[in-house]
Parts: sequence; C-alpha cells; structure tokens
Amino acid sequence: MERIKQIREALKGLGKQSATLMEVCGTHTMSIARNGIRSLLPEGVRLVSGPGCPVCVTSQGEIQTALDLAERENVLLCTFGDMMRVPGERGRLEDMDNVKIVYSPMEALTEAEKDRDRQVVFVGVGFETTSPLIAATVQEARRRKIRNFSVLPFHKTIPEALRLILSDPEVSIDGLILPGHVSVLTGRRYFDFITEYGTSGVVSGFEALDILEGIYLLLRGMEEGQREVLNNYTQVVKDEGNLQAMNTLYQVFESSDALWRGVGVIPESGLIFREQYRDFNALERFSTPVPDIPEPEGCLCGRILMGKSIPPECPWFGTECTPQRPIGPCMVSSEGTCAACYKYPEVVFKR
Ligand code: SF4
Repeated sequence: MERIKQIREALKGLGKQSATLMEVCGTHTMSIARNGIRSLLPEGVRLVSGPGCPVCVTSQGEIQTALDLAERENVLLCTFGDMMRVPGERGRLEDMDNVKIVYSPMEALTEAEKDRDRQVVFVGVGFETTSPLIAATVQEARRRKIRNFSVLPFHKTIPEALRLILSDPEVSIDGLILPGHVSVLTGRRYFDFITEYGTSGVVSGFEALDILEGIYLLLRGMEEGQREVLNNYTQVVKDEGNLQAMNTLYQVFESSDALWRGVGVIPESGLIFREQYRDFNALERFSTPVPDIPEPEGCLCGRILMGKSIPPECPWFGTECTPQRPIGPCMVSSEGTCAACYKYPEVVFKR
C-alpha cells in the first residue's frame, strides 16, 4: 500500500530507529485495533494509547458515588451506556433498578420533566465533546424551571493530562494523533501548546486511511524538523472550533482540579459548576462527597491511560479480567484499550 511505503520512507528519513506516537482518543484506539493498523506499520513505528476514553478515566470513587445515588429512594440515575458495566466497590449500575441508559443529557431532562416528583440525576462523564451539551442542558433546565434535574460533574478536559504525559520522561512521545471529535468543539488551536514540549500533533478522522495519513503527516513533519499541530480533519474541524458551544460550556462550568483513575489529581483538568449554577450540582443537592476508593489491586488502567503500560502487561488481562467479567473500565468501555486488545488479539502491542 502506497501510504505504508511513504510511512516507511518518512521513518528512514528521521534518522532514528523508532518513533512513538500516541493516539489520544479511545475511538482512534478501537479503529486502530479493528483495522489492524499496528500490524501494517513498519517495525520502528510504535503506537501507544492515551487518556481519551471517558469511562476509563472516571475514578473508582466517582463510580461508587453514582451507584450510591442510584440506591436512593425517588432517584432516577441517567447515564451513557458504557458506564453500566463498570464495577464499583459494591456492584454495577446494570444491576440496579433506578438506572436508565440515555443517549443525550436532553433525554434525561425529558425524564425529569415527565415526573417532577422524582429526582433525575445525569452522570456527567466525558471530555470537551460532551460537556458543552451538558452545559446547554443545564441552561435549558433552568429556562424551563425543571428543578428536579441535576448532574454529577465528573467531566475531564484533555490539555492538562497531555501536558502531564508529555513532560513524563517515562513516556517519550514523538507525536500525537489528536481527537477528531473533541477538536470539532475546541478547534485545532486548542492543542498548539503541545509544541512547547517538542511534540507535533495531527487532528485526525477515524477511518483507517485517515489514521494512516495522520501517521504519515506526523513523521514527514518530524523529518522536516517541524513541530506543529496539523488539521487533517478539515471537513468538520476548524482552527477556532465551535465558539458558541465552548462559550456555553464555560458559562455553566469552570476549570477545576480533577481526579483521574489510577493517575491521581491533575490540576485544572476537570470542570465544576460555576456559583450561579451550583443548584444543579448533584453532589451538593444530595450532600454526597466523592469517596476516596483505591482502584482494584493489580489493575493497570491508570498506567495504560498514560501510555506507560500495555494491556498484556496486566496480570489479570484475559484471565481474571475479560469483557464478560471486567475488573477495570479499560476492559468494559467500547473505547477501552484492554477491550480493544482483547477483541482483536491479533493486534501486536509493541513495547
Ligand atoms: S486487563 Fe482488566 S485489570 Fe488489567 S488493566 Fe485492563 S481493565 Fe484493568
């Protein structure tokens, strides 16, 4: 295939034996595995998975908080489907009665409007892709005076996690394949900071050819000595992003420190309600702090999310931990690296 040949030549031109590229987004992780991209690439090109799986970065304490709320009387907990099978300390959401899968936060708001005597709580997980929509839903709830609706604010934002990865000597990343969906909202420029770390990036679509082209562009740019953030998904991603959506996001939320699963607190990597919207904060409404619960012993999800480990290095991978009996969210989520590695075992994860 012509593109593979170009990648091989660009790698040769780099004058080094190998290049490590990180795909930030879980959708890319799954597409790379499904399309066997790792096995197509020349020996020296190594792909590692990054932190962009929303369910995978949700801490054990946050999952337990959602479970505890679902146990309360007169509460309906609404969540995206991927959260249903993640094990908490005591059970899973899929085993509980008062839990409903929704496809958007607006659907949860509709539930609240249908029965104003019941508290409806939406589990707010995800990155910049989903948080503007959640912010818009909160504003709509206020406009329609739907007061029995609230949100668990477990959102994360990508830049500070990437800064952490790029400054970690254990993870030497030469280039980033940047998330197409997030970039539709944030814009390409949002990621310009990565060049401060001597790293290039390319915003990419999700088809195999998009990803291969992104890899080629990264290597060619490195060969030419350029450090830049390219946009190879121009059909939907603009330099400045969706300003209206981002304004809505920051009308309702502001940046805060956030706890990432298996990683710890990353400063300014989450979102909390602004003062004028805090009556929609489910943690305050139900006076429930997020407990500090350690991750399951031996689970390497945190290291995998930071590009430091690969699934086969986990002692539980494929034995104690499988999609049928998952231990950590990386095996549950449809965007999780362990799930991708289990589902497509022919995929070679290089060290
Ligand atoms: S295989 Fe299971 S236990 Fe191991 S890192 Fe993945 S999710 Fe965690």
